[in-house]
Amino acid sequence: MKPKHINEFFERLQAQRPDPTTELVYHSPFELLIAVILSAQMTDVGVNKATAKLFAVANTPASILALGVDGLKEYIKTINFYTAKANNIIKTCQMLIELHAGQVPDDRKALEALAGVGRKTANVVLNTAFGHPTMAVDTHIFRVSNRTGLAPAKTVEGVEKKLLKVVPKRYLTNAHHWILLHGRYTCKARKPLCASCIVADLCQWPDKYEFGAAKAIKQLQDNLSSLESSNASST
Ligand code: SF4
Repeated sequence: MKPKHINEFFERLQAQRPDPTTELVYHSPFELLIAVILSAQMTDVGVNKATAKLFAVANTPASILALGVDGLKEYIKTINFYTAKANNIIKTCQMLIELHAGQVPDDRKALEALAGVGRKTANVVLNTAFGHPTMAVDTHIFRVSNRTGLAPAKTVEGVEKKLLKVVPKRYLTNAHHWILLHGRYTCKARKPLCASCIVADLCQWPDKYEFGAAKAIKQLQDNLSSLESSNASST
């Protein structure tokens, strides 16, 4: 995608969602960290259901540690891979207490050293809790970046690198959420909603026409011409 189209792409996503954020419910960096660990192979809705009950009784490293693995499992047993996740969360709580005074570190290396925390989880926490311009590439971001031609690459790391290079600086902090939400609600995996997509004309996916992109493009052109004629009549 050309730089001017990339700029336009984010301008529109920003207009649609001026203040995007994660759909995981959290009230502290620690709650966010736990929610993100639980979110692997799970929907945000499923995670939120479990954490609503868990965080009501334990939302600090010490209080989760006090539950123990078995106690924690009771709260998260609706979550995929909950046994492994419970073990990781208990280890992470121990490490946070021993190494970071019970706080979530604002540091990539320290985050990635925690149990159950990989690059993607660290990127989400750095971006969402601490405001760093990181790019946590999940399945939605990987798909949208490749389909649209925004940052095509064969691997997650490749997409992350390209996005960090091509996304204009002023959009970097929110870009991860804009692309993710676009992928979750519009540019869906099986049936993308190209007929109502606000970036259909910028998207380079050849198959978009099979999913009705022509309709969205016509609508975007009509909007542009009515904007132009109203600008002309007001000058
Ligand atoms: S036109 Fe279709 S494929 Fe392209 S970004 Fe929009 S929804 Fe995705």
